[in-house]
Amino acid sequence: MTEVAGTTVVRTRAELREALAQAPRPVGLVPTMGWLHEGHRALMQRAREDNATVVVSIFVNPRQFNVASDFTRYPRNEARDLAMCESEGVDIVFAPDVEEIYPPGFATMVSVGTVALPLEGAARPGHFDGVATVVAILFDLVGAERAYFGQKDAQQVMVIRQMARDLAIGTEVITCPTVREADGLALSSRNVHLTPDERAAAPVLRRALVAARDAWRAGEHDAERLRDAMFETLTAEPLVGVEYVSVADALTMQELTQVDRPALASLAVRFGTTRLIDNEILDPTAGTTAD
Ligand code: AMP
Repeated sequence: MTEVAGTTVVRTRAELREALAQAPRPVGLVPTMGWLHEGHRALMQRAREDNATVVVSIFVNPRQFNVASDFTRYPRNEARDLAMCESEGVDIVFAPDVEEIYPPGFATMVSVGTVALPLEGAARPGHFDGVATVVAILFDLVGAERAYFGQKDAQQVMVIRQMARDLAIGTEVITCPTVREADGLALSSRNVHLTPDERAAAPVLRRALVAARDAWRAGEHDAERLRDAMFETLTAEPLVGVEYVSVADALTMQELTQVDRPALASLAVRFGTTRLIDNEILDPTAGTTAD
């Protein structure tokens, strides 16, 4: 157990248990894979506002990478991550080794049904099993009152909510808005892999979602036309490879024909070997976002 100016860094389950035993309640958990950016910072700040103790986990989870090379090249910089946690007044950072989470003989996976199957689940087989498994373990180890996740990974939030409900885990799942660069690109640890040309082209993701949102606001409720609007915006950018565009039921993630209920417009694209995702909620009852 080490102290970095008020932040206790723990690496084992036993150290975590010990640190939590003395921690005032309620506890807020922010699970991350490190390479922390302003999106993670916003989650920490929200957790700090709501809770007496803030725990951040930093764990690059091998089981949620369906492509091994993606895991190997995932960016890591623990010293910088710890500095951000410390500057945000995080009380406990849990930064375990892979064997601490998955000890020898580990043989159980949490597999969430319907909501985990389309979109990211279809594009990245096994991904959500890995996510649900590690988050179930973290929820159990930390026993937080609340856990904070980003809207940027909208389907992930739905998968985690389903998992927590089904496994009777008492941690409340809280979604925080997507943090963006000034040009609209959602912050992501993967943005570091973009070449300058790809980075310059990357705001096209946001433009595609805004095109769909604006068409929907103007009265277009035919989901296929909204998907077409996203597809056309994306394909006008030569560096982009489109993986999917979707207008789905915001709760079930099933594709819609008509946008007659709260919907999620989402997309996944590739710039070379770098895969990026983004989304926008289409919900008449939700507050509007700027731009
Ligand atoms: P990651 O480290 O990429 O696994 O992300 C950890 C958490 O941060 C997840 O709940 C993500 O949804 C969230 N997150 C990642 N990027 C952003 C962003 N740009 N805005 C808000 N939350 C984000």
